[in-house]
Amino acid sequence: MAATHRGTCFCGAVEIEVTDAPVEMGYCHCSSCRSYSGAPLVAYVLFRAEDVKVTRGAELLSGFRKTEMSDRQFCRKCGGHIMTGHPTLGFTDVRAAAIPTMRFEPTVHLNYAEAVLPIKDGLPKLKDFPTAAGGSGETMPE
Ligand SMILES: [Zn+2]
Ligand SMILES: [Zn+2]
Repeated sequence: MAATHRGTCFCGAVEIEVTDAPVEMGYCHCSSCRSYSGAPLVAYVLFRAEDVKVTRGAELLSGFRKTEMSDRQFCRKCGGHIMTGHPTLGFTDVRAAAIPTMRFEPTVHLNYAEAVLPIKDGLPKLKDFPTAAGGSGETMPE
């Protein structure tokens, strides 16, 4: 059985379990992520949807869909963000901070054209999304 990591929402009522096989780790700078999180960027860990399971407090999990692309899931008790499902792609991205035992090793920045906080870390900066996710795949300077 593959190794797993456990994570929780801010209050701990909702618990998730993820496999130790993320598809990608990175940062998103888009205005939606910034507006929803109240932070200048969001750190995400992307998994295949079937690799993320809610193991406790599923009844407290609420979702909000501004678009069909993203199902943002949060705890109704504390308001803490946990993950965002991307049903059309078959992926779920989990807030990096929600799974603290998984070492965060980002490889890419998404939607850098919308960045308000430039990060000069030498990682590739995609203007929007990778082509596989319907974006241009174009990179841009830091
Ligand atoms: Zn909570
Ligand atoms: Zn975003």
